[in-house]
Amino acid sequence: MKIKALNGFKDIVPGEVELWQKVENTARDIFSRFNFSEIRMPILEKTDLFARSIGEATDIVEKEMYTFVDKQITMRPEATASLLRAYIQHGLHVQKPIQRLFTIGPMFRHERPQKGRLRQFHQMDVEVLGTPNPRVDAELMAMGAMLLEELGISVSLEMNSLGCPVCRPGFRETLLAFIDERRDELCDDCKRRSKTNPLRVLDCKNPKCREQVEEAPSIQEHLCDDCDEHFASVQKGLQDLDVEYSLNKFMVRGLDYYTRTTFEFITGDLGAQAAVGAGGRYDGLVEKLGGPKIPGIGFALGMERLVLLLQQQEEVKIDSGQVDIFVAGLGEKASEFAFPLVHILRQNGLLTVMDHEGRSLKSQMKQANKVNSRFVLIIGENELEQGQAVLRNMANQEQQEITIQSNNNEMASSLLQRCQQ
Ligand code: ATP
Ligand code: MG
Repeated sequence: MKIKALNGFKDIVPGEVELWQKVENTARDIFSRFNFSEIRMPILEKTDLFARSIGEATDIVEKEMYTFVDKQITMRPEATASLLRAYIQHGLHVQKPIQRLFTIGPMFRHERPQKGRLRQFHQMDVEVLGTPNPRVDAELMAMGAMLLEELGISVSLEMNSLGCPVCRPGFRETLLAFIDERRDELCDDCKRRSKTNPLRVLDCKNPKCREQVEEAPSIQEHLCDDCDEHFASVQKGLQDLDVEYSLNKFMVRGLDYYTRTTFEFITGDLGAQAAVGAGGRYDGLVEKLGGPKIPGIGFALGMERLVLLLQQQEEVKIDSGQVDIFVAGLGEKASEFAFPLVHILRQNGLLTVMDHEGRSLKSQMKQANKVNSRFVLIIGENELEQGQAVLRNMANQEQQEITIQSNNNEMASSLLQRCQQ
C-alpha cells in the first residue's frame, strides 16, 4: 500500500517550485524596498494565543484549528498573533519604535480542501507596529498592489473601516436591530452568529442572507469623528499613490482583532477562493496580548492562490538556473579525472553537471541539450592520452581544445575564462 500525503496537504515538486520561488523572491525584493525586516516564528504556539487574538467566536478558532487538546498547543492558523507574541517577548518596540516586519511560511487550518484552499497553506505576512498613521495604511496597500502588479496578477482592492471601541458598539446595536427584523430569513449560522458577532452576518456567503443584508446600515456612516478622519486620510493616501480601490461596506473580516482599516485583494479568476490577500489595522491587539499600548496594521497574501494565478497565465516564464557547463567523462578513467575538476568548477561558481552513469557520448550530448547547457567539456580516453579535452560552445557549435593539466585548478581557471567570455 502506497502512503499518500494527507488530504489538504500538498507537495511542491520541481516544475512548480520555481513559481513559488518567483513569488517569494519578488516579495522579498519588494518588502526590502519598503524597508521591512524578516522575522521567523515557530509553528506551534499556546492555543490561548489564538483564542485571545483571533477571537473565540470566529470560524478559525471555533472549527479550523489544529489543536493538541491535551497539551493546549495549536499549529498556527495565521501569522499575526505569533508575530506579535514574538514582538512583545523580545521587546522589539524598545529597540525601534516603529517596526516593519515580514514573515513567510506555512499555516494550518482544518477546512474543506478545494482548489486554492488547503489545510497546510502558505502566507507572506507583513506587519507595521508602532504607528496609527493613516499614510502607513495606504503605503501597505500600495505595497501589496505593487507586488501583485510585478507578478503580473490583476486584482481589485476593496476596503472598509470597522471603526474602534468608541464607535463600533453603537453600530453593532444599529445592525442588531436591523438583523432582528429579518432574523427568520437568515441561515442557521447567521442566526447563531448574530448573537455573538452580528457583524459576521454582513459577510455571510449564503445568497439568501446576502439579499437580506443588502440594505443593511453601513459602518462607514457610523464612524466616530476620529475614525472617520482616519478613513478619509487612508483614502487620500491611496489617491496620492494612484492606487485604485473601492469601498465595501460588507467586508468585516473573520478575525476579531481588526479596528479601522480592513482590506482585501480580490481576484475574479479563482471561483470561491477570491481573496488572494487580506488584512487590516489592529490597534488594540498588542495590548490585549499583554504588551504595551501599540497600534499596528498588517496583511497576508496566500501563496497557493498566487501560484495558481501564475499557472493560469498563458505564458509563465520560469528562470531556472542555466547550466554553465556539462562535463562529459567517457569511460572510467576520464570520469575519475573529471570528478574533482567538476567540484572545483562548482567552487568557482559555475553551475556544472556531470553524468556518473558511464553513458555514451551521444547520450551525454542529449542530456546536455536537455538541460540547455551553454558548454560541454568532452573528456574521453583518447583525449586523456593526448592531453587535450574538447570544449564545445552549444550556442554556435564551435569547438576548442583545452589542455588537460595535472593541476585541476589551472585547468579549471582556463575553463572559467572561456565560459565567462
Ligand atoms: P477565505 O475567505 O478565503 O477563507 P480568510 O479571510 O480566511 O480567506 P485570511 O485569514 O485573511 O483568509 O488569510 C489571508 C490570505 O491567506 C487569504 O486572503 C488567502 O489568500 C489565504 N488563505 C487563507 N486560508 C487559506 C487556505 N485554507 N488555503 C489557501 N490559502 C488560504
Ligand atoms: Mg477562511
